[in-house]
Amino acid sequence: MLYLDHAATTPPDERVLNAMAKCMREHWHNPSAAYSAAGSARKVLREARGTLAGMLRASPGEIAFTSCGTESNALALQLARGRHAVVCAAEHASVLHAARAVCAEVSIVPVDAQGRVSPEDVLRAVRDNTALISVQYANNETGVIQPVREIGAIARRLRVPLHCDAVQAFGHVPIDVRAENIDLLSLSAHKFYGPRGAGALYLRQGIRPQPLLTGGGQENGLRSGTENIAAICGMAEAARLAQEDMAERAQREARLMRPFGAALRSRVPSCIELCGASPRLPGVRAYLLPGLEATQAIADMDLVGIQISGGAACAAHSADASHVYLALGLSPQQARCVVRISIGRATREEELLRAAQELARIYHRRTASR
Ligand code: PLP
Repeated sequence: MLYLDHAATTPPDERVLNAMAKCMREHWHNPSAAYSAAGSARKVLREARGTLAGMLRASPGEIAFTSCGTESNALALQLARGRHAVVCAAEHASVLHAARAVCAEVSIVPVDAQGRVSPEDVLRAVRDNTALISVQYANNETGVIQPVREIGAIARRLRVPLHCDAVQAFGHVPIDVRAENIDLLSLSAHKFYGPRGAGALYLRQGIRPQPLLTGGGQENGLRSGTENIAAICGMAEAARLAQEDMAERAQREARLMRPFGAALRSRVPSCIELCGASPRLPGVRAYLLPGLEATQAIADMDLVGIQISGGAACAAHSADASHVYLALGLSPQQARCVVRISIGRATREEELLRAAQELARIYHRRTASR
């Protein structure tokens, strides 16, 4: 089996699993309990908050634990409840849906053919009553990294909070919320070799969206519910490990993707690597293979033990073209012919070259029969 769908989810790191098992055995008390035994569970939370905050250059008190990226995004969008929000067209469905559900009005800012949103367009979309700008840090279907720092400077000048969905970026590229003027930021553990069911929202001090869940008042009242200590511990361990090898991993992934792209293009000259002129996550690439439907490519690759995707995993069963590929200006037919390859820590060069060969073979077999 060759797993090339790390943008959908990453395999949990063994060291994370061990940390979680140990945590579940040793720190299972309810952290809100008053007796001293619960102190060790509180310590796990405290340390995890410190780890995530440290990676973002935030303060521990600015981190709220959630159950996933979707929840973090939904909580962030609560800041614009009943008001106007500016949102990028290539956002993940969890941002777009939350914006449409809670905001009175939403302005959608387009991306160009290279997948980038223009800071000037964001500036133009902001109104007197804008309560939030939400622009992703990096896109899950193209890997494109947005000009967050420039947008952050505009948001700061206009005094409108900036939310960044960094679910794909956190743990893969360095993020500094202070220097980049980010006011809220979503992350999710399963995208950086941590467990499913653990996420976090960074909220600059003083920012308080209306909570989605109320009750026991955990997470400073922002997210009630007894904390999932083991998952949070796993998320922190995964973050620590990601921080440790981030620079080296990024270099390695970028180096591995180049021969893959070259091998694919040499066998399929009509193949187009999307957003090649934009800064991108090192391990995420999207390729348009004209005439080969992604659903077909995925199924055929699966038969030879290679797992790839056609964009967002959550839309994998939809016949509709991806809104992200359409936003780049592709036609619906072209957008249905895009495959995403996303690599990770364990991917090896020879495996990637085999994937390129298989994909090219499938392309020629399927398109020749038409
Ligand atoms: N935002 C982006 C950019 C994503 O890629 C994903 C997941 O694919 C999410 C949000 C949702 O995260 P989660 O699966 O943790 O809910």
